[in-house]
Amino acid sequence: MVHFVGAGPGAADLITVRGQRLLQEADVIIYAGSLVNPEHLKLAKEGCKIYDSASMTLEEVITVMQEAEAEGKTTVRLHTGDPSIYGAIREQMDLLEPKKIDFDVTPGVSSFFGAAAALKAEYTLPNVSQTVIITRMAGRTPVPEKEEISKLASHNATMAIFLSTGLLEPLRERLLVGGYRKDTPAAIVYKATWPEEKVFYGTVETLPQIAKENNITKTALILVGEFLGDTYERSKLYDPTFTHEFREATK
Ligand code: SAH
Repeated sequence: MVHFVGAGPGAADLITVRGQRLLQEADVIIYAGSLVNPEHLKLAKEGCKIYDSASMTLEEVITVMQEAEAEGKTTVRLHTGDPSIYGAIREQMDLLEPKKIDFDVTPGVSSFFGAAAALKAEYTLPNVSQTVIITRMAGRTPVPEKEEISKLASHNATMAIFLSTGLLEPLRERLLVGGYRKDTPAAIVYKATWPEEKVFYGTVETLPQIAKENNITKTALILVGEFLGDTYERSKLYDPTFTHEFREATK
């Protein structure tokens, strides 16, 4: 059996209880060494074989899983954040299936949640934005044309932009073309939830400059939108004049 497990965004105690248990029980752990906190590996039992996938190909990863399976062993494939976000798990699952190797997925706290916590922010503010767009700039991995940043930016919704810290000049240009104002609030969160976490506030206009001044080139999320501003409406849910399934209006 292979367990795909989300390690969470960084802090070792932000993995799920289930993920932690699977790590403790695993005979083999294959972890994404570029971003997964090595602290998690301390949970491995004695004799557990540990592989860093940073230097491995997809085929090599599958071979390790297949060999473990042949010996009746349990493998944990440990991905950063939540495995469903830029985790490249589909291609692994699609190779395991014809080999009749059983697998399941344990979710994790994605770094965009870690970033919200670092910012002490709410992405979905009433009358500001009720939508979070998770995307990235096209780099060596392309992004479908229909999802070009300026098209997404035209919604002026909350945006969480992954994998783009090295592309902030073109990102800014695309955001402005799409319709964000130059002074739309923006933030860069570096290594959210890690001990070395850093948070920088600015605007769409200043994003490249902030990164440059602070030497931020990777492992950061770009957050854009008025959710970082000061204006919003109170929620209906906790409004005393609003009746809903669990509470009568009091005024
Ligand atoms: N599956 C992961 C994302 C993997 S893609 C998740 O759910 O978070 C890798 C990108 O995620 C990085 O380039 C960076 O943009 C972002 N990232 C991952 N961990 C991060 C962290 N702790 N703080 C800020 N950004 C992070």
